[in-house]
Amino acid sequence: MHDSNRQPPGDAPPAPGTFERLATDGGARRGRLWTAHGPIETPAFMPVGTQATVKTLEPRDLEELGVQIILGNTYHLLVRPGPEILAACGGLHAFMGWKHPILTDSGGYQVFSLAKLRKLSREGVAFNSHVDGARLFLGPAEAMAMQRVLGSDIAMCFDECIPWPCDAQYACQAVERTLLWADSCRHQERAPGQLVFGIVQGGEFAELRGRCARGLVDIGFDGYAVGGVSVGEPEPLLLQEIEESVRHLPEERPRYVMGLGDFWQMTEAVARGADLFDCVIPTRHARNGSAFTRNGAYPVKAGEYKRDLRPVEEGCRCPVCRTFTRAYIRHLLNVDEILGVRLLTVHNLHCYMDTMRRMRGAIEAGAFQEWRREQAARLRSGTAGKTPEG
Ligand SMILES: [Zn+2]
Repeated sequence: MHDSNRQPPGDAPPAPGTFERLATDGGARRGRLWTAHGPIETPAFMPVGTQATVKTLEPRDLEELGVQIILGNTYHLLVRPGPEILAACGGLHAFMGWKHPILTDSGGYQVFSLAKLRKLSREGVAFNSHVDGARLFLGPAEAMAMQRVLGSDIAMCFDECIPWPCDAQYACQAVERTLLWADSCRHQERAPGQLVFGIVQGGEFAELRGRCARGLVDIGFDGYAVGGVSVGEPEPLLLQEIEESVRHLPEERPRYVMGLGDFWQMTEAVARGADLFDCVIPTRHARNGSAFTRNGAYPVKAGEYKRDLRPVEEGCRCPVCRTFTRAYIRHLLNVDEILGVRLLTVHNLHCYMDTMRRMRGAIEAGAFQEWRREQAARLRSGTAGKTPEG
């Protein structure tokens, strides 16, 4: 899997799983991960398309925004529409009309956070659907089979995500189960060109993170994820958990920090060697009437923007900011017009894609440390929505 003969002859694209490290700056990496549906320039942010849609957007919108890869949720798609329909429709790419890379999670996180009446065994978890209470079972074999049906470019191992706080004994058992399940996932049949990433768990315990990471590396995956972070723990602990996981992972493989989407935390994770991120916040915040800017988020829905004729973010070159005012978007949101959510989703994702482009540019230019300091100053300025943003 990790052979050095990935480069095929001629002009054919590199084989899926090829990870090119184009530049480094301290711990930060500027890379390119090849998948069966094309390359991903890293560090990259993946918008979340839980129900086979990034809410309110269609694939054409995502392409225009420069989105390279989206995330699909195996658990939700297993519950509805279910594997039979997805298989009949030719997998997730064909089903939703998206031609570019897709990463699917394994469903583990949702089973442990959403589903009711779980029963845990060596083989996996029996649980009741959060929608209709139907009894379902998900383990390494089932999670990989479902991801094979989805045909994602990157499949995630089925793991046990523990809550925070969690005692060391339980965290240790969860790590053992996660490693057992990872070994099983690694040996399941895959969709053509599908990559599989292992997930480092271990909660806040450095030695468990190390044990899990080294165990996964021994099994050997196309990439590695840091899981069980951003589950309510304080930020210094979160960054420490990332550090304690990444330090045991091979330089030549991509690293994905799951569920992280705060600009500052992503910057700090990149400084520690992370390459991929996903989070619902740019899209969820849009539905709650919050606008992201390079200086942080602000509630465009608030009364003070009632007569504001400025765009959502001054200086933003997204199609929404080129056309519409805060006053208009605030109005749409306050009368529950669906266009308001759509426009804010477009802007918020543009802001995310733009931030990642700038981050990649800073690493390429050897100016990441400077960029990191500038980010800190911007995000702590508390000026989002207040003053001209350059
Ligand atoms: Zn904009």
